[in-house]
Amino acid sequence: MKKINETSNGMELIVSLAKRRGFVFPGSEIYGGMANSWDYGPVGAELKKNIKDLWWKKFVQQRDDMVGIDAALIMNPKVWKASGHVDTFSDPLVECKKCHGRFRADQLEGKCPNCGGKEFGEAKQFNLMLKTFIGPAEEEANLAYFRPETAQAMFVDFKNVLMTSRKKLPFGIAQVGKAFRNEITPGNFIFRTREFEQMEIEYFIATPKNDSEWQEVFEHWKNEMISWMKEIGLDMDKVHEYEVPTGDLAHYSKRTIDFEYEFPFGTKELYGLAYRTDFDLKNHMEASGEDLNYQDPETNEKFIPHVIEPTWGVDRSFLAVLCNAYNEEGEGDKKRVYLKLPFKLAPYKAAVFPLLKNKPELVSKAREIYLELKKDFMVAWDDRGNVGKRYYSQDEIGTPYCITVDFDTLEDDAVTVRDRDTAKQERIKISELGEFLRKAQGQPASPISGG
Ligand code: ATP
Repeated sequence: MKKINETSNGMELIVSLAKRRGFVFPGSEIYGGMANSWDYGPVGAELKKNIKDLWWKKFVQQRDDMVGIDAALIMNPKVWKASGHVDTFSDPLVECKKCHGRFRADQLEGKCPNCGGKEFGEAKQFNLMLKTFIGPAEEEANLAYFRPETAQAMFVDFKNVLMTSRKKLPFGIAQVGKAFRNEITPGNFIFRTREFEQMEIEYFIATPKNDSEWQEVFEHWKNEMISWMKEIGLDMDKVHEYEVPTGDLAHYSKRTIDFEYEFPFGTKELYGLAYRTDFDLKNHMEASGEDLNYQDPETNEKFIPHVIEPTWGVDRSFLAVLCNAYNEEGEGDKKRVYLKLPFKLAPYKAAVFPLLKNKPELVSKAREIYLELKKDFMVAWDDRGNVGKRYYSQDEIGTPYCITVDFDTLEDDAVTVRDRDTAKQERIKISELGEFLRKAQGQPASPISGG
């Protein structure tokens, strides 16, 4: 069995599988594409949605100390002034003197990645926020920005959330949504793009009386992030923790760790965790004139909460999950590629086939099962080619089970269920299929009983 990092052309395999099977397509392809823009296809949209839903379930639904929001992408530009983004959200940009290509100075390894030139102009700070104009007049007064992170809305909406949710400290606000950055050097497929999605949490705590008070919460979230990575099936030997040195910390951070993953193109940042102190609420309070203090209901003490921020990239999660799930087995004609996706993430939980397409009694039985399972699960239908070919294509999109209706089914009301990872087959009663899939999903077999 071969994993993606054991092949020499890992990224090519992933990009080609992604396109061939409908995970990710080049954006605007019929117009010649658009550099570094990607569209999620039918199975990709499912996988991406499953990642986001699982995250929301784990961190919002199943916790008592979290609420979610869904804020506007374009916020008042004053938000970005107060947050420090207008002044400091930039990367150093250099131009190659030979080919005039522009690159991020901190990512160059001494020579131009384009032409190999070794001489560069002076580095200039390039602001990464994507600009637009609101309304018909393209003038400075109408300048606005697409949000470069989802985080700021959690601070800006803090007071409204506090009043409407009646949460007490410590508690967190979560959000999933698009963010935009005018990256100087996007690339590596969906790893670094100008438009991407984030899943972020701002977790508010009382002003720490000593370091151990915030360190404890930091540690809690570090463990939660590890637990998440295990849940999405990442091989934890490929995940590394990087403690960002004090000199490299972002302007708002007192401590940051990055979780890095061994992608086929190198070990790179997957997620981040930062202690943002009271930086954001304090700045928004000063800039907006609104009182963003929290009043402790027991002591009546007023203070600006401090914040621990765990942040996840959706697209990087997607890429790590794909790379991690990729498996090759056998050689030549016997070669089989399968995605060992956790059941919860798989785009389709099962595929239903009639053994033969031209036998109406098999087709109508299979159709019946398919439509019944579809009420509760994403299920695929396939009646093309032979069963072997159908297994092959379902394996490549990570469908955990293939269900075949054959002539015996008409006699015994059972079907052949084939397991993606082991390729083993077993007979299961049609009436037990729903229960079988629910169990695989990790759901309780019977509904919660009201006591
Ligand atoms: P990098 O150092 O790779 O530019 P960052 O440290 O600027 O990333 P954060 O500001 O911490 O990233 O953003 C939080 C998360 O959002 C990252 O951990 C990553 O998963 C995701 N992310 C950031 N920028 C991009 C991008 N251009 N494309 C896709 N995902 C991104």
